Amino acid sequence: MRKRVTVLTVGCKANFADSASIAKEAVAAGFDVVSSAEPTDVVIVNGCTVTLRADRDCRALARRARRDHPGATVVMTGCYAQGSPEAKESLPEIDHWIGIGDPGAIGSLLRRIGGSGRPEPHRISEHAADLLLGHRRTFLKIQDGCDFSCAYCVVPLVRGRNRSLPENEIVEKAAAAENDGARELVLTGIHAGLYGADRGERDALAGLVRTLLRETSRARIRLSSIEPMEVTDALLDAIAGSPRVCSHLHIPLQSGCDRTLSRMRRPYAARRFAEIAFRVAATLPDVQIGADVIAGFPGESEDDFEETVRFLAVVPVNYLHVFPYSARPGTESAKWPDDVSPGEKKDRVSRLLRIDGEKRAAFLRGQVGRVLEVLAESAHPGRRELSGTSGNYLEVTFRGESREAGELIRVRTTSLNGRGLAGEREDRDVV
Ligand code: SF4
Repeated sequence: MRKRVTVLTVGCKANFADSASIAKEAVAAGFDVVSSAEPTDVVIVNGCTVTLRADRDCRALARRARRDHPGATVVMTGCYAQGSPEAKESLPEIDHWIGIGDPGAIGSLLRRIGGSGRPEPHRISEHAADLLLGHRRTFLKIQDGCDFSCAYCVVPLVRGRNRSLPENEIVEKAAAAENDGARELVLTGIHAGLYGADRGERDALAGLVRTLLRETSRARIRLSSIEPMEVTDALLDAIAGSPRVCSHLHIPLQSGCDRTLSRMRRPYAARRFAEIAFRVAATLPDVQIGADVIAGFPGESEDDFEETVRFLAVVPVNYLHVFPYSARPGTESAKWPDDVSPGEKKDRVSRLLRIDGEKRAAFLRGQVGRVLEVLAESAHPGRRELSGTSGNYLEVTFRGESREAGELIRVRTTSLNGRGLAGEREDRDVV
């Protein structure tokens, strides 16, 4: 009987792409990839270390994996394994601790553990791997690492410097995924806007988007997080030039106060961010813009925080990802006094979450009555309903059959539906 492996992911879209690579390795080693609800022989936790909370989630997942699957081999990998080797001692639940410095290590381990006993020659596409992990969207990694040194960020210490993947490799993977049924390709990276910079190329991400549009014919393309100074005119032209590129950008802000931005070592002022956000909003119809904000960075005074609140009230950002600051070992800001009290941090997070809720609701209201192209992701067969994600990153529910999951469907939105929209389909697979 074939052995089984479960892959659990904590963290960002780049980690989702890494988990899909692990699933591909597992299939090639003769394993079946199963969910954590099924009996399994190996559990791999692909962990994140960007915040204290991510560390905690990784440890909790590993402990639960051991409890739920007492006989399984439990493996910790990803940024958490790379950044916290000392944590190994306090986690006897874990059998193998594999950092990200050796990309072949997981494949070798899986082949050693056995699978069917012989390596499968069969290789699957990124899309097939993502489906095995329950993702309809296909995460295509375009680069790894980061050359910046934001004061709070542990990622460059864990992931190293920017390394872009060769363009032909990305195009090949995109074409194979589309052939296999992928209808959304999410370009991911640790710092995706640096794509090509290590080869001395300028605006290479815009070029990559145009190449992918040429070399594929049906799948839409979504960009994951892009730093503000990398939202160039060339990139905006590439996005605006095709309806196959999603009208959605996630642009990390972190603070709307210049004093805080400069202490964070972020290379822009709030005003520059605002100019970029206004330009994006004016260029891309129905675009949804998201932003990350950190609450309670060391030295963030009440006035600084109020400046961020005032900034958010005017800048065209439609949702926020809010993080309470947590000191990460080895970073510059970890040496500074973490001087915003836990209670104050909590209050600031609540204020930001309220702003997030108001912004999301306002954007949603403005999208009622629009025709959106939705990737059908989950089916609710009892109700003959599908729900999925629009190009501008809204959850939309509409009538449909489970066999249509994975398709792009045009939906006219008719009403609000919780944190998303409900609608009626117009026609099918229009791209
Ligand atoms: S740009 Fe800054 S926050 Fe983003 S990964 Fe690099 S160092 Fe971290």
